[in-house]
Amino acid sequence: MYDYIVIGGGIIGLNIAKELKTREKSSKILLIEKEPDVAYHSSGRNSGVLHAGFYYTANSLKAKFTKDGNKAMKEFCVQRNLKINECGKVVVAQNKEEYKTLYELKKRADTNGVELVWWHEKQLQARYPNIKTYKKALWSPTTATINPKEVTLEFKKYIIELGVEVVCDCVYIRKLDDHTIQTTRQNFQAKKIINCAGLYADTIARDFDMCKDFVIIPFKGIYLKDEKNQADIQTNIYPVPNLNNPFLGVHYTLTVDGQAKIGPTAIPAFWRENYKGVANFSLSEFLQIIYYEAKLFIYDAFGFRSLAYNEVKKYSSKYLKGLASGLTNNLNQKEFKTWSTPGIRAQLLDTKTLELVQDFVVQSDENSVHVLNAVSPAFTSAIPFAVWVVDEHVMKNSVN
Ligand SMILES: Cc1cc2nc3c(=O)[nH]c(=O)nc-3n(C[C@H](O)[C@H](O)[C@H](O)COP(=O)(O)OP(=O)(O)OC[C@H]3O[C@@H](n4cnc5c(N)ncnc54)[C@H](O)[C@@H]3O)c2cc1C
Repeated sequence: MYDYIVIGGGIIGLNIAKELKTREKSSKILLIEKEPDVAYHSSGRNSGVLHAGFYYTANSLKAKFTKDGNKAMKEFCVQRNLKINECGKVVVAQNKEEYKTLYELKKRADTNGVELVWWHEKQLQARYPNIKTYKKALWSPTTATINPKEVTLEFKKYIIELGVEVVCDCVYIRKLDDHTIQTTRQNFQAKKIINCAGLYADTIARDFDMCKDFVIIPFKGIYLKDEKNQADIQTNIYPVPNLNNPFLGVHYTLTVDGQAKIGPTAIPAFWRENYKGVANFSLSEFLQIIYYEAKLFIYDAFGFRSLAYNEVKKYSSKYLKGLASGLTNNLNQKEFKTWSTPGIRAQLLDTKTLELVQDFVVQSDENSVHVLNAVSPAFTSAIPFAVWVVDEHVMKNSVN
């Protein structure tokens, strides 16, 4: 019998296991992962941006953990000799409306205690001549990039050093009773089961009578990369986002090695791991997801019709580059030719209100904990978020 079983070897599961083992050194902890290694899904397929924390409304969990998460993740990278690109980020406006939204972002930054600096158009031009904005831009000095796969693999190494047992190629199949789960390897028992299964977190949570009003709708993010490093980009360049949905709009990011990427998109996917072609196709998932996507389309919930239409157009590299060109002056886009590794967001939909859930969601009882909406910036927030999950959901609900 284990004390804890964590399902899912992404950045969240690894950090919760790390936090538990650090606090309870003698505890027996097992982390299971269905793939041959950790970081196969969101945690190894994202933009690698350590966000600063200014997009999120006060009192949200995202606001609470992003700033500290950014700092803690950088410290972890330094301690473990992992690369960081401290390249910052600018948010630029393309018209009068977006210019007004910059003020809302600045207000949120001030409320969240995040450093965000106004730059006049001329200051921006002086620093980055090929980035353009309407009147003013916002400069975020603490935004940085890391290699998300490298970092996630390092957390696996770290928790193994601490004494957590990590078993890969081990798929959770179903719950047998409150303390026993069936997997493709064997049945395992634990006092508490912690579900951090990313794209499958909702289906696992339903086995435990949780997640009744939510379903995960997958949104695919694809990127175009500058194969020959010809675009002269030294910082991350973001547009003003539509604050009514959780996506940040098409932007330029720099990888940890300084390679530029355009993306990611937020294209509605048809099954959870719908990365390419028909790989990982599941008929039952397809039917469930298409049912909700059709409903969103019919009711045009949160402007889903235009979102879907505009996102699907981004499969065209010409269209995607056209969108990004609104952020820059005469930038050489010729070598943005290759599609790089796509990622899929495990975005929670409230099935009653048909709204996309903006904040992280965690549900728990005395036997289990379920991390349900660990969407961006959950990678950035993972370290302090895991501390909070352990405090508020693992420990508070414990019987002894
Ligand atoms: C395109 C894209 C760009 C993003 N950009 C950023 C960014 O720049 N900065 C940022 O902070 N965040 C970003 N994010 C968000 C970030 O990637 C996620 O918030 C984070 O990786 C979530 O981690 P996780 O551990 O919850 O999920 P995952 O990494 O998906 O891990 C879940 C794990 O559970 C395993 N699993 C699932 N089902 C089972 C089962 N039945 N049995 C056993 N194991 C199972 C999976 O194989 C997987 O390894 C981005 C996400 C996407 C998709």
